[in-house]
Formats: sequence, C-alpha cells, structure tokens
Amino acid sequence: MRRHVSKLFSVIGTLTLLCCTAISHAADWQAGVARTVITPEEPMWMSGYGSRDHAFEGKVHDLYARASALRDPEGNTAVFVSLDLVGVPIKMVQVVSADLEKRHKIPRRSLMIACSHTHCGPALDHTLSYMLNMQESDWQPVKRYQTSLNQKVIDVIDKALADLQPARLSVGQGICGFASNRRTPIGVGPYDHQVPVLKIESADGKKLRGLVFGYACHNTTLSFYKLCGDYAGFAQLYLEERHPDSVAMFFTGCGADQNPLPRRSVELCEKYGRMLGTAVDQVLHGTMTPVTGQLSTRFKDLSLDFASTPTEEQLQTDLTSKNHMYRNRAKLLLADLKTESGIARSYPYPVQVWKLGDQITWVALGGEVVIDYQIRLRNELGRDRTWVTGYANDVMGYIPSERVLVEGGYEGDTSLYVYQMPSKWKAGLEDRIVNTVRELAK
Ligand SMILES: [Zn+2]
Repeated sequence: MRRHVSKLFSVIGTLTLLCCTAISHAADWQAGVARTVITPEEPMWMSGYGSRDHAFEGKVHDLYARASALRDPEGNTAVFVSLDLVGVPIKMVQVVSADLEKRHKIPRRSLMIACSHTHCGPALDHTLSYMLNMQESDWQPVKRYQTSLNQKVIDVIDKALADLQPARLSVGQGICGFASNRRTPIGVGPYDHQVPVLKIESADGKKLRGLVFGYACHNTTLSFYKLCGDYAGFAQLYLEERHPDSVAMFFTGCGADQNPLPRRSVELCEKYGRMLGTAVDQVLHGTMTPVTGQLSTRFKDLSLDFASTPTEEQLQTDLTSKNHMYRNRAKLLLADLKTESGIARSYPYPVQVWKLGDQITWVALGGEVVIDYQIRLRNELGRDRTWVTGYANDVMGYIPSERVLVEGGYEGDTSLYVYQMPSKWKAGLEDRIVNTVRELAK
C-alpha cells in the first residue's frame, strides 16, 4: 500500500512538474498589442475600384492600424502590423522598417506588415492609385494622408513594443465558408476556408489581450463611397467588442481569386464579419496548442522577372487610349524609359517566413496571391502547422500560380494595367516563390 501511495505521489509529482514546465514555457514569451485609428480626416479619393471618380462620403466605421509585438524567451522580437487598407505601399514599409531598425534594433526580417485589402479604404501613395483617374489636386490629400499614416504605423508599433509583458500564446485553426473562387466558372475553382488563429493571453491565462487571425478572401463585399473595413473590419470590431480591451488583428490569406459571394450590401458584409468572428471564437473556446520554443524570422527579396518589356510605340499608342489606366501606365513607363535604368525587367518580391515556436510556420508573401499558393504551401509544409499571409510587405500586383498564368484572365494577365506593370510575370514564378519559402523555412 505504502509503495502504491508513494508511486501515486511520484506520478502526481511528475504530472505537476510537466504542467509547470508547460506553463513556464508558455509564460516565457512576451507580447504587446496596440491599435490606432487611421480614418482619413480630410476628403480624399478611395482605392479599390478604378471606376470611382470622387472622394469618400462618410464612413460605416473607423479604419485601424493594429500591431502586435512578440518576444520569445531568448529575447528575439518580431512585430506584426495589420492595416484596414487596400495595400501596403513599399515606400511606407521602407520608412517604418528603417525607423524600427534604428530606434528598436529590430531588423527588416522581423517586421511583417499586412493589410485587409478593403476596397472601401483611402487611396494610398503607391502604383495602385494610378488605377484612378485622379488629377494633381486629387493627389495632394493622398500624399498628406500617406505621410500621416507612416507616422501612425510607427506610433502603433511603439505602443505595442511598450506594452510587451509576459504572455501565454497559443494557436489553432477554424473554418469559415463564405469565400468562393471568383474565376469563371464562378464557385468551381479551388478555395481554402482555413481560419488560422493566434491567441495572446495574459501570463495567468485569465485575460485575452490580443488575437491574430486570417482568411483567404477579397474584402470586396462593398463598393460604395463610404469608408469601411469590409467583412474583415466587421470581424475585428465584433471580436474586440466580445473581448473588451483586446486587439483583434486580421490578415488576408491568398485570396486574390476569392470573393465573398453574394455581396454588395452592408448587411451581407456585417454577416460575413460575424461569421468569421464566430469561427475565430470557436477556435478560442476549443483546444488550442501552446506556443513553445523560439521565434525565428527570415526574409528575402526574390527577383521576379516580367515576361516582356513594352515598346515605346506601344506606349505612345496607349497614351491616346480611352481608358485612363492605360494612359496612366503609358505615362509612367515612358518616364521610366527616359531614365538610365529604363523600364524594369524584374521586381524585388518580398518573401518572409516566421517560425512561431515549434508550432507554426508563418509565410508572408507580397502582392495579391492566388489560392493555389496557400493550398500548395500548406500541403508541402504541413496543413496544420502552416499559415500563409498574402498582401504582405508590399502589394505590387497579382501573383498568379503557373495554372492561372497560363489560363490568363484578370489575375493572370490584364490586372497588369491596374498595377502599371510593364507586362505580366514570366513563367516559372510559382516554383521560384515556393522554393524560396522552402529555403527560408529550413
Ligand atoms: Zn484585389
């Protein structure tokens, strides 16, 4: 009997030790969160649709920049930023990253800036805004907004870093079904309804402080003249309301060929936000996996080639086009042609891979990435342990898979006019991007 009792005590002792070890691992991490309003304060044009022809008229709700700072037990620190905006201008990333490196000694590879790609946000100072038929006077408020936005992003990162404190991190994934493949025939092509979730709790696990979650679908439920974060905006606000004092941060997965369908009403938009928020909440209330181990961050600018270079004659013809996007592109590229380097033949494409402890490989790709990448990367790197963020660190154009590039259409070809690209991408980009991810994930 005595032997049994002592054996029982020894088992309990071992269990206690195991639990303590697990808790101490989880609590060795630190996290900080912050959010700030980035709603434009003066009238200006909106982005997302090239047919828009005047400034916004009010708002459905505010737009936000949200940030989370994560620090592992070794002191490795990374910063994630989520923006209720259509894109991530590369010039803004360069300003923010240089500041972070200078004042906080946090390197470029440890900064990830994502956006919701809402089509009801302000125009930004980047190439996508040439899809709009803006005159010089329309550009002025856009440039003023961009300058203040850059500072607001720097400030929200500062706040998240100042908020760093012991935290319990855990990960899980849910499912949400409103995204449909939008290429013809609509609703037939591939999709991925995964909802990855990172939960940030206080060290004692009593308080939910922050959430990072993703979904692979365009934020295009709405197309009117009111500022709105679209379904992602509603989902974040829904979660922040249900969990007071927490910051809920959205990222878009590889949703370039995915739309919320049906769409075009605020009611539907709010419904999709609630659906996504509910999916996240279900993950929070289920069994989640604690993040243990270390944080590692890697980054590479991959030189992606364009398929061809337009001739001066082609561009001169486009200058007289009825379509303002063709004219704007021709103007920009003819100006490039006069410079010493000429029209770019390739683009520095950002590929980033973070390891959230031993649990998650978090891939962040620039541009509007089609769903094939998310499906392939999850299949190759592990379906339960891989997250893919698109629209991250720079949004310079669509990123078709090899299949979509061959098929053509908007995502594979004609969107080059929206983004003022010299041409579509050269074949072979899918393998080059995936191989770069694999190399960084090693
Ligand atoms: Zn898009």
